[in-house]
Parts: sequence; structure tokens; C-alpha cells
Amino acid sequence: MQRYSFLRHVGHALRGHRHWQPAWQTAEPKKQYDVVIIGGGGHGLATAYYLATRYGIKNVAVLEKGYIGGGNTGRNTQVVRSNYFFPESAAFFDHSLTLFETLSKELNFNLMFSQCGHIVLAHSEHELEQQRRTVNSIRLNGVDAEHLSPQQLKKRVPLLNLDARFPVLGGFVQPRGGCIRHDALVWGLARAADSAGVDIIQNCEVTGLQLQGDKVVGVDTSLGGIAADRAAIAVAGHTSELARMAGFRVPITSMALQALVTEPVKPIISTMVISPTIHMYISQTDHGEVLLGAGADVYNSYAQRGGIPAIEETVAAALELFPSLSRLRLMRQWSGTTDITPDTTPIMGKTPVQNLYLSGGWGTGGFKAIPAGGDTMAYTIANDESHPLIAKFGLERFTIGALIDEGAASGVSH
Ligand SMILES: Cc1cc2nc3c(=O)[nH]c(=O)nc-3n(C[C@H](O)[C@H](O)[C@H](O)COP(=O)(O)OP(=O)(O)OC[C@H]3O[C@@H](n4cnc5c(N)ncnc54)[C@H](O)[C@@H]3O)c2cc1C
Repeated sequence: MQRYSFLRHVGHALRGHRHWQPAWQTAEPKKQYDVVIIGGGGHGLATAYYLATRYGIKNVAVLEKGYIGGGNTGRNTQVVRSNYFFPESAAFFDHSLTLFETLSKELNFNLMFSQCGHIVLAHSEHELEQQRRTVNSIRLNGVDAEHLSPQQLKKRVPLLNLDARFPVLGGFVQPRGGCIRHDALVWGLARAADSAGVDIIQNCEVTGLQLQGDKVVGVDTSLGGIAADRAAIAVAGHTSELARMAGFRVPITSMALQALVTEPVKPIISTMVISPTIHMYISQTDHGEVLLGAGADVYNSYAQRGGIPAIEETVAAALELFPSLSRLRLMRQWSGTTDITPDTTPIMGKTPVQNLYLSGGWGTGGFKAIPAGGDTMAYTIANDESHPLIAKFGLERFTIGALIDEGAASGVSH
């Protein structure tokens, strides 16, 4: 892998940037792989990367039906945090945040990680009381979180309207939370996985799974059959379809989740701000666009667009808290197909089919989980045994009733 450095950039600039190596190769599918990963989003790529670099399994292919990062990983609002309520969620998501803290260096790729803080607002005495308990739980989980008074909020976010219809009575911040450039994460992982020997095969749709008894032995794709000792599903909103091909069902609903950006302006918001009550969250991108998001559309859909009511509600909520944005024009809107579980906790680990593994149910909040998801899935695939951090995230929790209800942590707070 050609290393990126300041001097190398200067050298290439002087030669008109005509001699850069491609960041990853266009691979032709081989007949057989040790591991085939279905889905070239963040989770598929991270799993491949860690398999090759931590577990020495390099004969790996990532099969992507479109282009890598064209799913939710390239469409999300980049929120990264680990302020979860339950200990098992906090341990997993904080592992992810910790990996993010050194990932740019490890991948030799600038992920533009900004730990600008993640603020959650409270709009009533009841919500404030609930937040106090949540902050205590987060801190007991060993994760950073601090209460903020309205005055402290105003200092951090001067444009925030404290006297909204539901007045802002306080909030809390996770100072280590922030955002990571989503395309950079995809490209950084793809480049590092490719250089470790992984084949990244785009425009290759998996259309069926080859089973022998209750064991997976390969996949059928739009480019032909590929034999595989082990396979992993990492296809977000299309998890139910892949599970159907394998002959089992998953409790996942696929819904569109949208985001919007305004035209770019000078820096006006330097942190992430979330209001679960007014139902929106906001940040400003490196380009200067104000980035808005909210909850998923209220009906199931595989369409990557989303409905107009969600746009209207998100804009109305944003203007309630940030009235001065009313003069900005919306520039773009898009959506992704999210895979939502009943308890909004992911489904990770083994499946009823031998040698077939699942990383799904990431719903509206799986971007922040990509490094930990990749690391723990790679361990699980390499050892045919769930990594301890994801032992409670298995599919069987829906039969034994051991749900981990993180609904409150993931409603609008992706
Ligand atoms: C608008 C929006 C905002 C969000 N905001 C945040 C946020 O701020 N923070 C956060 O943590 N999370 C957020 N999320 C959620 C997050 O983006 C996802 O949970 C995460 O990216 C899922 O990653 P993935 O790799 O599992 O899926 P994806 O990135 O969707 O990748 C799955 C890939 O599988 C491919 N695929 C599907 N079927 C097949 C097939 N049959 N054969 C081959 N390939 C196939 C798809 O083309 C796709 O590229 C948001 C999501 C959206 C849509």
C-alpha cells in the first residue's frame, strides 16, 4: 500500500497528481474463498479488514451489489458516541469509540474525526430527572457524560433558542462524542483491507446461498457461483431478504431514514445537538452545510428516498430550536434503508445455518459501531464463537426474551 504522508502529497502535487496508485484494486471473483462477506458497507469492510489484519484470514471477498459505501454507511449523519444506558451496549459502543480514536493512524487515512461533543437537550422537569438517571448510568458504565445548565448550553451553542415552545431546561454532553467523515471511513477501510489481501468486488449481487444440509458452502451471485467455507451477511436493510435465502427469519423491519443539508455557511454550530422531544438533531459539516436529521419514516419501505412529511417535521423542529436558520435554503435530501429490531439493539453472531454469520439490525445507529462491529464479527467468524462483547446480541435473545431495550438511546439520537 502506498503510504500517504505530507511529503508524498507535496511530491504528487508538483507532478500534477497524475501518478497516485488506485486506493484499492478492481478484483475479479475467485472460485473459492475462506470467507465471503455479503455487503460492502462499513460493517462488511471492517469485518474483512480485521479478519485479514488481526486473525490472519486473508482469502476473503467482500461482495457488494452496487458500490462500496452506497448503502447507509455513505448516507448517514456521522454521529459517533457511546453514551448508552445498558452496560453491554456501553461496553460495545465505547470499544468502537476507542478504536475510532486511533483508526486514522492505523489506516493511514484521515477520517476527519472531530470529538466536538454530543449534546442531548431536556425540555421538561421530568425529562431532566430522567436525564440525571441516564447520566449516572452512563458514568457508572465508565463512559464520559456531564450535565449542562441552560447557561452552559447557551455558551456552547449560542444560536440555540432556549425559549422554544418546549423550553430548554438543561441537557447533557458526551465530550468524547462527535463525528467522522463517513466516505473516508469506507475508503480507508477498503484501502487497508485490499492491501491486506482482501478482494473487494463491486457490482456483484448475492442472489442465493448455496447450502449443504444446514451448512453454507457458497453463494450465487450476479457474476456466478463462489464457493466459501464461511459467509457473513452485512447488508443492513436487506437482512431479511438474505435471511430468507438462508431459510430463517429475523425480527427486522426496513424503514427509510432521511437526512437533509442546507446550503453551506460559515461555522455557526460547533457540536452535535439532539432533542428527543422536539425530535431532531443538528450539526454542521466541514463544508459548512447545516446537517439535519430525525427519526425514521413511519412505514416499511426498501425505497432509498423517504417521504415528505418527515422532511417537513424535521425542518419545523430545527427552526423551533434554531430560528435563525430560517433564511437558509435546503440544498439536498436523501435517505437510506435502515434495519430496525424490536429492541433497537443489533443482531450479531452465529445463525441457525452453520458457518453463516450475521451482522445486522444496526437500524439508525450502526455507523458509530463500525470498528467494534468489524472487530467482534471477525473474532466470531475466526473462532466460530461469539466475541464476549457481543455475546448478548445474538439472534436467540428474541426466543429467550433477553432483549436489550435501547429504544430511548436510539430514537432520534443516532
Ligand atoms: C440518514 C441516515 C442517518 C444515519 N445517521 C447515523 C448516525 O449519525 N450515526 C450512526 O451511528 N448511524 C447512523 N445511521 C445508521 C448507519 O448508517 C447504519 O447503521 C450503518 O451504516 C450500517 O452499516 P452496514 O455496513 O451494516 O450497512 P450498509 O452501509 O447499508 O451496507 C450494506 C451494503 O450491502 C449491500 N447489499 C445489500 N444486498 C446485497 C446483496 N444481495 N448482495 C450484495 N450486496 C448487497 C448494499 O448495497 C449496501 O452497500 C444513519 C442511517 C441513515 C440512513
